Amino acid sequence: MKRSKYRLPLSQRIYLIAILKGMGITARHFFTNLLRPGRMPNVGYPEKRRNYSPRFRGLQILTVKPNGEIRCTACMLCATACPADCIHITAAEHPNPEVEKFPKEFNIDMLRCVFCGMCEEACPVDAIRMGTRYELANFERNQFIYTKDDLMRAGNYTQSRVTRP
Ligand code: SF4
Ligand code: SF4
Repeated sequence: MKRSKYRLPLSQRIYLIAILKGMGITARHFFTNLLRPGRMPNVGYPEKRRNYSPRFRGLQILTVKPNGEIRCTACMLCATACPADCIHITAAEHPNPEVEKFPKEFNIDMLRCVFCGMCEEACPVDAIRMGTRYELANFERNQFIYTKDDLMRAGNYTQSRVTRP
């Protein structure tokens, strides 16, 4: 097979133009940011935190009734709708005969959660909502299992008053 006689010029063979272009872009951004720091798109985390949209889907919150009781009726709809199978509920009979059931245990495995919001959509009594907490890093796998108490602590939600953490 005959070899092509075409050869790249030296500047292209040593990627000189690409390197110079890259350095030019870096220098442009460096001096722009130096002279106009207010226009930098980064946030000085963790000293400063970005305000996310209220529609942001972070750690779930279990809402409470005005009397402070958990709103969840352990109907399992959220667990059934969850595509990641990360909600585990143990239902129990409520001492109040007017309330049928409540969740004795309500755990969410945040290592499996994909933050799709299906649990929030499926709940018929507005007992679970996607909160705005996003700092969920941890060291042990079992620390990613959020219990009922953790999820109730995650926000102060009643039907009439919404306070996002
Ligand atoms: S956000 Fe999606 S994946 Fe996470 S618990 Fe809810 S339904 Fe499951
Ligand atoms: S959070 Fe809502 S959907 Fe899930 S078990 Fe409780 S009441 Fe049912």
